[in-house]
Amino acid sequence: MTLICVTYVTRAKISKPALGVAVVSREREEKMAATSALVLFSGGQDSTICLAHALARYDRIETIGFDYGQRHSVELECRSKVIQALRTNFPEWADKLGEDHVCDLSVLGDISETAMTSETEIEIAENGLPNTFVPGRNLLFLTMAGALAWRRGLSILVGGMCETDYSGYPDCRRETLDVQELTLSRGMDRPFTIETPLMWLDKAETWELAEDLGGQKLLDLVIEETHTCYLGDRTHRHEWGYGCGTCPACELRANGYQKWRAKVAA
Ligand code: ZN
Repeated sequence: MTLICVTYVTRAKISKPALGVAVVSREREEKMAATSALVLFSGGQDSTICLAHALARYDRIETIGFDYGQRHSVELECRSKVIQALRTNFPEWADKLGEDHVCDLSVLGDISETAMTSETEIEIAENGLPNTFVPGRNLLFLTMAGALAWRRGLSILVGGMCETDYSGYPDCRRETLDVQELTLSRGMDRPFTIETPLMWLDKAETWELAEDLGGQKLLDLVIEETHTCYLGDRTHRHEWGYGCGTCPACELRANGYQKWRAKVAA
């Protein structure tokens, strides 16, 4: 397996500190961990709103994205555009945005045969889940994020998982994440928190949250720069953004947008 984690860190040589220094350093580490977060950031609508949520809440944010052999690379290409747009349009957040890490997890595409990682028609499988479900994906993402966070002195992981209106993926459910939070904390001997600001919001409320966090500027950024469509369509522009308009991801995004607009208009 090839694992490339692109970061921009120089590893300092570790020497054994005197006890007093160690205590100060631990206190500093704990303080930093409480005011910093690592956001799982794909370049999609949900993770962009999670990133804005973290920027509004914490002092320092790092981001991590994964290349897992997706059937298209549009979302990954949107990542850097979204980050750049956030820096440009939100100067109050620019200084908080730290390193962006991209991990090669192409092994996931090698071992799964799903409509997310191959040119297969999207349909509901016999188990009731759409065949866009990539088994183990979020579990692996969170494990990798935890490993990186451990090295970077971060203990809060922020992800856009949601079980309010979603495709039924079991690794998006809060009960799954509660168990994984415990597993990461036990397995790395650090109290990890997996924060999921969208967990109990429907898609309309997610649009509403975007407006609350960053007003029209953030809404425009989400519409123009983020990507959700499973088919990677960037040629059709709708009022809610780009996409084919018919895949399950587009339908969720479009329905949420329309429900939110109707609520605003009422
Ligand atoms: Zn679509």
